[in-house]
Amino acid sequence: MAYCRWGADGSAVYVYDSAYGGTTCCGCLLDNGDIVVNDPLYGTHAEMIEHLRLHQKHGHHVPEYVFTELANSPDHPLEVSDL
Ligand SMILES: [Zn+2]
Repeated sequence: MAYCRWGADGSAVYVYDSAYGGTTCCGCLLDNGDIVVNDPLYGTHAEMIEHLRLHQKHGHHVPEYVFTELANSPDHPLEVSDL
């Protein structure tokens, strides 16, 4: 599920629970060291909240309800592949 989409309430981030496990910050504006695919993926919502606070420090707008939603939703763990 998506916690927020770009432009919704002025949001600068697009955050959702990935179908492949984990919670992702799609097309992240922060420099995460990967300029090709910049979709940081976290196994816990606490880590995503920390990540979104970093966005706020950079002046990116993150609607406050996103933090509430993440804090109140069960973590979406990274899937472990047996392949
Ligand atoms: Zn991000």
